[in-house]
Amino acid sequence: MYAQVIVEYSLKKLDKTFIYHVPGHMMQEIKVGMKVLVPFGHQNIYGFVLALQEKLETEIETKDIKEIVDKELVLSKELLAIADFLCEETLCTKISALQTLLPSSFKAKTQKHNYNQYETFISLNENMDLTKYKLDNKRSKKQLEIIEFLEKQKKVNKKEINSSSLNLLIKNEIVKVENVQKYRLNQEKKKEASKTLTKDQEQAFTQVQNSLNKYETFLLYGITGSGKTEVYLKLIKEVLKNGKTALMLVPEILLTMQIVKRFYQEFGSEVAILHSALSSGEKHDEYLKIMRHEVKIVVGTRSAVFAPLENLGIIIIDEEHSATYKQDNMPRYNAKDVATFRAKRNNIPLVLGSATPSLEAMARAQKQVFKLLTLDKRIGDAKLPLIEMVDMSEEMKQRNNILSSLLQRKIEDRLAKCEQVILLLNRRGFATFINCSNCGFTYKCPNCDISLTYHKSSNNLICHYCGYQLKKASLCPNCGEDSLNLYGLGTEKLEEYVQKRFPMAKTVRMDQDTTTRKGAHEAFIEDFLQEKYNILIGTQMVSKGLDFPKVTLVGIINADTSLNIPDFRANENTFALLNQVAGRSGRSNLIGEVVVQTFNPDNFVMECVQKGNYLTFYNQEMAIRRKLKYPPYYYLVGLKIKGKDYLKTLEEAKKIKKYLEQRVDPETICLGPTTALILKYNNEYRFQIIIKYRFDQKLKSILKEIDLMYNENKEIFLDIDLNPLHS
Ligand code: ADP
Ligand code: ZN
Repeated sequence: MYAQVIVEYSLKKLDKTFIYHVPGHMMQEIKVGMKVLVPFGHQNIYGFVLALQEKLETEIETKDIKEIVDKELVLSKELLAIADFLCEETLCTKISALQTLLPSSFKAKTQKHNYNQYETFISLNENMDLTKYKLDNKRSKKQLEIIEFLEKQKKVNKKEINSSSLNLLIKNEIVKVENVQKYRLNQEKKKEASKTLTKDQEQAFTQVQNSLNKYETFLLYGITGSGKTEVYLKLIKEVLKNGKTALMLVPEILLTMQIVKRFYQEFGSEVAILHSALSSGEKHDEYLKIMRHEVKIVVGTRSAVFAPLENLGIIIIDEEHSATYKQDNMPRYNAKDVATFRAKRNNIPLVLGSATPSLEAMARAQKQVFKLLTLDKRIGDAKLPLIEMVDMSEEMKQRNNILSSLLQRKIEDRLAKCEQVILLLNRRGFATFINCSNCGFTYKCPNCDISLTYHKSSNNLICHYCGYQLKKASLCPNCGEDSLNLYGLGTEKLEEYVQKRFPMAKTVRMDQDTTTRKGAHEAFIEDFLQEKYNILIGTQMVSKGLDFPKVTLVGIINADTSLNIPDFRANENTFALLNQVAGRSGRSNLIGEVVVQTFNPDNFVMECVQKGNYLTFYNQEMAIRRKLKYPPYYYLVGLKIKGKDYLKTLEEAKKIKKYLEQRVDPETICLGPTTALILKYNNEYRFQIIIKYRFDQKLKSILKEIDLMYNENKEIFLDIDLNPLHS
């Protein structure tokens, strides 16, 4: 027997299988989808078996497979099909697609350690005559004690008894030893009384329930606090009842800890979770549970879409508009596309949930490609919050640079009433740039084309793109004068200001800098929920999925930050973010308020946020997209051309543009090359070409050709992004 094996080198020219002989002793065990060790050149490397065949088509010399690495890991037909799909969708190599599917401990590569953890249990060996053994007067008192203990307890962890007498009992086979795999994460079910769905929730549920046995995509458009999670839970219960499994994707697990908790409460150890904040060992264990069919539900972030669940019954994507579903580096896949692929293949429903659906999703719902389900009321007596806009240019005149007088008054009011406040500022650090008033010097990143952000707690200047760090000097490094001034506002400075302004309030800051420690994020949320703090300050981290009943005021400090980014999705992202964070206010019977500080109060995005009107926003933004030929009217492809030499890189970019223009469909639009948003990044210059098209049969193959041309170029790097989320 012979095997087609794809090996772990991700080079375009090695993007094919090699044939190996299967030695006799492996014949019974080997399966398509297994990880194997094979000789390659002068060494042994890892790979996956993609096909098996009895005979060789032509007489060639073949080497033997050395070893089946892991008998448990067998990539299913579905996973192998997903890998093909990824290659086609992202133009990546087969092996990189396969590696992307797997958690690090299962990838085809040398594994440094064995991730399996075991616990040792001991019990009495029923096959031995205990009575006779006990009567032997050579037995020590300690031995007899252990036997008695085990007679009562049956099976105990070996750790509980640590004595040489035990070892003697084991040696004499009176006590037997068992190694049981120990999973790092364990969750008990904490059965809370299940909630009875409201009429609206029930209606949404029933519509999906009626389609459980066919492929259909539902867009669950439910305002914040309308109870989408309970609909998901009931759907999943229904699916489990039918003996099937369920996959649920969330944008960022740390931000959605409350949802995960809800799942654990309801389903306990039937749930596996997969996300990047788990340790490799934890991921390994969760993956094993799925492979061994010990769990029926997987909750996770983007890559959980590859979970090897069999017999899938439903896929749910919460916050479907979130950009985190698209991977930002190669292979640039979108989990929503993979989910669609799996839903079709399994003939099951796909449910996309959001309070601010992506324009793509809503446009499909309007065209009845997706079925639209609407939840337009908050649960119970909770009302949508009252939103007020503050024109910051007016406030600046009164020197209210950070907090407007309105927001200050309202914070005071909440503190007096012992209610809680969330302040959103989507920028971390203390100051966004430093400038010398004497010579004009500013600190810039030597690798990238942007200024460094000042972090006061560490006295560091940090590049938020490449991570470059530098200690801040007290005098200007250029002219030596004591004239360095801090400009711009980050969460660190906001916190300092709030503490000074409201000395009685207890504040907590949640951003990337304060949540690096594992578990820090959950601890902050728990403490805030317990009302150990009055004011929560943070970046977009505080916007999603949090449900704090005592929060009645949300302040959005610099609402324009994301509006001014030159990106066709800037309006959409801003609307989603502001709506989302506004939705944190007034989620119980207390009335919520939101204060939005902006320099553009007349901008239509701000108006729609203020009225809480998604559909108006949708219609206006769609008109813009149509006019400017952006998604969902056109598809996009982004090409980035990168190199260390500015002129050479620009030249290549121009060549690529020409090559494209001569070949693409006449209706297809090629724009550029222009400099990328950040021209210099990590010491490379970056240019971009944007392709807009509606139908172009040939485009994919043209892109593949170009990709191949630059694959072995050591000076110019080409990065092709099909359906990029930004431009
Ligand atoms: P969304 O995800 O749509 O923003 P959630 O699922 O977080 O909303 O629900 C908002 C709140 O309403 C939560 O506290 C949730 O426990 C509660 N809730 C949801 N459905 C019901 C129900 N049928 N009965 C009672 N409370 C509910
Ligand atoms: Zn940098």
